[in-house]
Amino acid sequence: MIESICILGGGTAGFMTAAVLSKLNLKVKCIYSSKIGIIGVGESTQIAINDIFKFLQLEDKEWMPKCNATYKTNIAFESWSEKGNQFFYPFEPIKQEKNAVSDFFELCALFPDEMNHSQFARFVSPSSRLAELNRLTKNGWDFDRYTAYHFDTHLLSKFLYDICTENGVEFVDDTYLSSVQNDSGIEYLVCEKTGKHYADLFVDCSGFKSLLLGKEMGVEFKPYTTQINNRALRCKVPYKDKNTQLKNFTNNVTMKNGWCWEIPLWDGMSLGYVHTLQFASEEEIKQEFEKFVEEKYGVTPETSLIEFKSGRYEKGWVKNVASVGLAYGFIEPLESTGLVSSVYNIFRLLEVISKTSRVNQFDRELFNYSVNLELDKQKGFVDMHYASAHRDDTEYWKHVTNDVQYNWSDVNQKLSLEMSMIDRNYSNSHYGGLSYILAGNGYTPLSPGFIEGLKWDYNLPTVSAYKDRILQHDREQNNLFETFPTTYEFLKKTIYK
Ligand SMILES: Cc1cc2nc3c(=O)[nH]c(=O)nc-3n(C[C@H](O)[C@H](O)[C@H](O)COP(=O)(O)OP(=O)(O)OC[C@H]3O[C@@H](n4cnc5c(N)ncnc54)[C@H](O)[C@@H]3O)c2cc1C
Repeated sequence: MIESICILGGGTAGFMTAAVLSKLNLKVKCIYSSKIGIIGVGESTQIAINDIFKFLQLEDKEWMPKCNATYKTNIAFESWSEKGNQFFYPFEPIKQEKNAVSDFFELCALFPDEMNHSQFARFVSPSSRLAELNRLTKNGWDFDRYTAYHFDTHLLSKFLYDICTENGVEFVDDTYLSSVQNDSGIEYLVCEKTGKHYADLFVDCSGFKSLLLGKEMGVEFKPYTTQINNRALRCKVPYKDKNTQLKNFTNNVTMKNGWCWEIPLWDGMSLGYVHTLQFASEEEIKQEFEKFVEEKYGVTPETSLIEFKSGRYEKGWVKNVASVGLAYGFIEPLESTGLVSSVYNIFRLLEVISKTSRVNQFDRELFNYSVNLELDKQKGFVDMHYASAHRDDTEYWKHVTNDVQYNWSDVNQKLSLEMSMIDRNYSNSHYGGLSYILAGNGYTPLSPGFIEGLKWDYNLPTVSAYKDRILQHDREQNNLFETFPTTYEFLKKTIYK
């Protein structure tokens, strides 16, 4: 019978869990260590985070100014297949206008000098243009549904802490030392200053250490071996020109040994070089990162290092220990899936314990089955960014685009194969973001060579007139979007008044 819950960890995962569970009629305690601190990254999100803010009934203007938050409509990928080329992945689904997608690819094949695959998003989703032109508006698209956020995780944690306190969560700032088990799992935790902490259910949010699920319960960790990055050098720099640099998307630009995130926060740009030392030394990575920052932002950065591991535990919930956040698993941060995974686990946990206070093996299995499936699926999606990239100018890029053995029977790998050459359909919403990533990297459901060969069979004047109309509409849309406020102006007017 679950009447009391003890959360170990006060990072974003721990405080989000506490905030959500504090809505139930249960005793919730959260133990964290201000001495140890939090990982402090996790600034870029996906729209799954909106469920948390909605659930807690928080309005943007209430929490965003306290967290240096900005809006995120898209993720951009720069130089993944061609140097300097940038393509967009909006959160908005592909518009389902008749033949819009197939016409786009056909015109790219027929008029490659005028249209190309990296523009896929702008022709099938209006919100990609907001990112390309750095404009924001609430008109003409579903802003609330398809906009996520960038924020300062330390500030968000503080904000959540206050909400939890108001909702009756008991906080204990102490260091966890060990646990004592009984037949149901953990009976109590032992902390340095405060001693024993009993509960019916324990939620492990202790970060990569996974102190309860991994260490105490001995659940096996399964590394995601296709993901070779395991370190990030990071820094924060001031804006040179806030109006042009504060964008409404995260930019992920490839580097010689990985990629770099550029996350626009209200008070500056967060940058991080995600990499491995398999093909370069620590010094080479540091120099490359510093040069990148100096050239683009005009400052010599003060960097710090974060080490991480990609993978997940075999099960997310055993006996009376459930897990959320890094304590359960992590996918390298290319798609900002860290907090998505936390949100997913929190709501699955809520689902189970709001149905019953007498949790049985089937309940735990429901949780485990769904969270494992979700994380593995997201991991396959991230892998497809590398698998479909065409950069091969360094040992690192040769390795990830040619040597890594991606699992082609995983769901997103299989879908990528099918959508490109079997059902030849990039407009099915079932494929989610894959269409944007594959098209951005130059893939098409058509055969450009075959269409080139069949050019004689087209009524080219008619098709060309159609293409001109589409390009004219494209220019008109650009002109319209140019009349909207910049991201900075929009935020200043709506959030940072
Ligand atoms: C390089 C990198 C980039 C990332 N970028 C993103 C991103 O852009 N978007 C995104 O969504 N996610 C991102 N993530 C993931 C994101 O950082 C995490 O999902 C998120 O911060 C949640 O972390 P957490 O709360 O699980 O762990 P942590 O923040 O590590 O919190 C662990 C908590 O456990 C406590 N603790 C540990 N040991 C003890 C002890 N002995 N006693 C008491 N308390 C203890 C700590 O004090 C802390 O409060 C990134 C991760 C990495 C590594």
